Amino acid sequence: MKLYVVGLGPGEVSQMTGKAAEVIESCDTIVGYGVYTDLISDLIKGKEVITTPMKKEVDRCHMAVQAAIAGKNVAMVSSGDAGIYGMAGLIIEVLSEYENHNVEVEVIPGITAASSAAAVLGAPLTHDFAVISLSDLLTPWERIEKRLSLASEAGFIICLYNPSSKKRADYLKKACEIVMKNLPEETPCGFVQNIAREGQKSRVLTLKELAETQVDMFTTVVIGNETTKIIDGRLVTPRGYRK
Ligand code: SAH
Repeated sequence: MKLYVVGLGPGEVSQMTGKAAEVIESCDTIVGYGVYTDLISDLIKGKEVITTPMKKEVDRCHMAVQAAIAGKNVAMVSSGDAGIYGMAGLIIEVLSEYENHNVEVEVIPGITAASSAAAVLGAPLTHDFAVISLSDLLTPWERIEKRLSLASEAGFIICLYNPSSKKRADYLKKACEIVMKNLPEETPCGFVQNIAREGQKSRVLTLKELAETQVDMFTTVVIGNETTKIIDGRLVTPRGYRK
C-alpha cells in the first residue's frame, strides 16, 4: 500500500501541484491537521478523513501508518512542503518501527512558505538564504540565536518561520536585535501573513521597524542582507547580473 506525505502549498488549491492533487484524488484515506483538511474539503469529499489536534503529531503518524497497513492508500497532508518543518521525516521514522508491512512511503513536494512569501514581497531570495524557525518547542533558544547570528554575519538573507505565538510574543524582536548586531537598522525586510489564504496581508519595512512589529504564527518574515533593496515598493535582492 502507498503512504503519501503530501505538501499542499501555502493555501489556495490553485497553488497545489498537479501531482499533489492527483495523489489526493487516488487515496482512500486523508490524514491531517483539521485546518489543512478543511483547505482541501472540495477535493476529499466522500473520502475517509482522519484529523487530530495540533501537538498530536506522533499519534497522527501512527494512525496514518496503521491505515496503510490495513490496506488503504493514505495521504498525510500538511501545508507548504511536507518535508520542510513538516511530517515527512516523522512518517518515515514511525513506519520503521513496524515490522513485516508492505507500505511504501512517497513524499510529494509542495510550495513552501519561503517561496510563496518571497513571490508576494517581490524577489528577496534570489541569492543564498537561510530558513530559520523561531519556535523553541523542539530547538533550544540558544541554538536559534546562534543560527540567527551566524547566518546574518555570513550575509545570508534570512527567512523566518514560526516567528511568533502567544507564549513567544517578543521572539521576533529578540531575533531582529541579534541580526542588528551584524546589519544596519535600515536593512530592508518584509513579511506576509496568511499567504494564499483569506486575509493575506504583506508589508515591506526596515529591520528596525520589524523589531517593533507584532506578527502572528501565520506569518513568514524575510530579513534582507546587505544588498537587499526596496524597488517600487517591492523587496529585491539583486542577483548581480547587472554588475
Ligand atoms: N511545511 C510548511 C511550514 C510549516 S512551519 C511549509 O513548507 O511552508 C509553520 C510556519 O510556516 C508558520 O509559522 C509560518 O511562518 C509559515 N507558513 C506556512 N504557511 C503559511 C501561510 N499560508 N502564510 C504565512 N506563513 C505561512
